[in-house]
Amino acid sequence: MGKAFAGKAVLVTGSTSGIGLGIARAFAAEGANVMLNGLGDPGAVDALLGAIVKDFRVRALYHPADMTRPLEIAEMVAVTEQEFGAVDILVNNAGIQHVSPVDEFPVEKWDAILAINLSSAFHATRAALPGMKKRGWGRVINLASAHGLVASPFKSAYVAAKHGLVGFTKSAALEVAEQGITVNAICPGYVMTPIVEKQIDDQARVHGVARENVIRDVILAPQPTKQFVRIEDVAALALHLASPAAAQINGTSISIDGGWTAR
Ligand code: NAD
Repeated sequence: MGKAFAGKAVLVTGSTSGIGLGIARAFAAEGANVMLNGLGDPGAVDALLGAIVKDFRVRALYHPADMTRPLEIAEMVAVTEQEFGAVDILVNNAGIQHVSPVDEFPVEKWDAILAINLSSAFHATRAALPGMKKRGWGRVINLASAHGLVASPFKSAYVAAKHGLVGFTKSAALEVAEQGITVNAICPGYVMTPIVEKQIDDQARVHGVARENVIRDVILAPQPTKQFVRIEDVAALALHLASPAAAQINGTSISIDGGWTAR
């Protein structure tokens, strides 16, 4: 049987780690050529690219665009189109976190979170849509969060950016609905990746308690299943959203959070 995304070009922002890397590898496993992006030293990035080529026999490239810089984001989309002939599937995944009370929130952290977690999705989508419209097919998948739907204290910038991303998803989806393009958001609960590892370490330090206690009593407290979401399950959802079966899923946010937002 043929691979589901053979020959498709997939650009995943923030794909040198965690969920983004998992999504890029899952598309590559189904035959897509993938453009990686994100922070990381050149040796580590080369190893990720080499593993994708070896494991899946597709083309894998890397663009170092900083998601706080609109011109670099546009250039990344243009380079992907030059190299692969298209950006068929755009996954806006890059994201960072900072935890602090509003009145102590560092202004530069607020600006960086809004830029990386929200505005970068606008800049990448803006650059990728003309090609998708020309080809009459495209998929934009935005990694929002349970925090795109509900809030937690001390995460004002993240919650604001992710709610904004859910709103952007709806508006963009309405614009392109008749052109074979869908725009959707995935809203995961907690997934064990470096962004969460750091929060566990920070909380353990601040409260002076063991990591296991932070995981049980703080991190997984809002997640009814008391289990982390798996990267591969988020990736499987992204593949579904890009599949023909999802052609009528548009402008929505799909939760994958163990029941968190059902409360
Ligand atoms: P991660 O820290 O493992 O990966 C984040 C990626 O973004 C990395 O590749 C990093 O290099 C990249 N990045 C950060 N700043 C960048 C910049 N300025 N320019 C380019 N790339 C940059 O985190 P993750 O958990 O895999 O998160 C991926 C996405 O999923 C984020 O948007 C995050 O908010 C979202 N999310 C994560 C969880 C979770 O529990 N891990 C839950 C819900 C939503």
